[in-house]
Amino acid sequence: MRQKIVAGNWKMNNDKKETTKLIKEIKKSIKILPLKNTRVIVAPTFVNLSSAVKKAKKSKVEVVAQNMHQAKSGAFTGEISANMLKSIGIKTVILGHSERRTYFGETDSILAEKVNSALENKLETIFCFGELLEDRKSENHFKVVENQLKNGLFHLEATAWKNIILAYEPVWAIGTGETASPEQAQEMHAFIRKIIEDKYNKEVAENVSILYGGSVKPANAEEIFSKPDVDGGLIGGAALKAEDFTAIIKAI
Ligand code: PGA
Repeated sequence: MRQKIVAGNWKMNNDKKETTKLIKEIKKSIKILPLKNTRVIVAPTFVNLSSAVKKAKKSKVEVVAQNMHQAKSGAFTGEISANMLKSIGIKTVILGHSERRTYFGETDSILAEKVNSALENKLETIFCFGELLEDRKSENHFKVVENQLKNGLFHLEATAWKNIILAYEPVWAIGTGETASPEQAQEMHAFIRKIIEDKYNKEVAENVSILYGGSVKPANAEEIFSKPDVDGGLIGGAALKAEDFTAIIKAI
């Protein structure tokens, strides 16, 4: 059975105190939930990862990183490598978020290197991708998504996919309040599973969790998560309040 996952991408929000407080609140509110086959993930900023890992220890909350550099070490001022993340107890990293692609010039080929580096260091990867509004308007969204997957991930062996989680995030729905309809999400997720089956096999396609991201909130989570190929969500804005995030976890 595929894992269900609710992941909060905190982006550049929450200082150390706020990080600790939010983790404490989430821990408390999910303690009594029957989280069978369901993972709860939060991604604080780099500077707060160490303290967040400590705070979340022995709880159902997993702390992951929002990004990393592809090189092992060296002259890359301001950057952080996979083994550094590993060394503080991080097991999972988000790669390819649209904000990284748009504002920080992360191309498909850089992302393929990042994925390799993460996997070599035994870091599970939440790989984000999704089309722009103009791609959808020109009906190129399937092609764009297919290319992002091909260029970023399809060089991997089938066995590597047990450490991959996908997050389909249509860029036009991120932080805009505009969500893809549950039908649009399901249509794309089914398409993604199909191209993975074509490239690899049915087992890889059926086992990979595909999250939806883009303006998921308590009011729409249940309907989106009810779709058969939607295995959870990557949540931005609504992950910053324990109450909203918990409501979204409950929806799954
Ligand atoms: P949003 O962000 O939920 O605020 O739209 C989602 C994301 O960027 O992962």
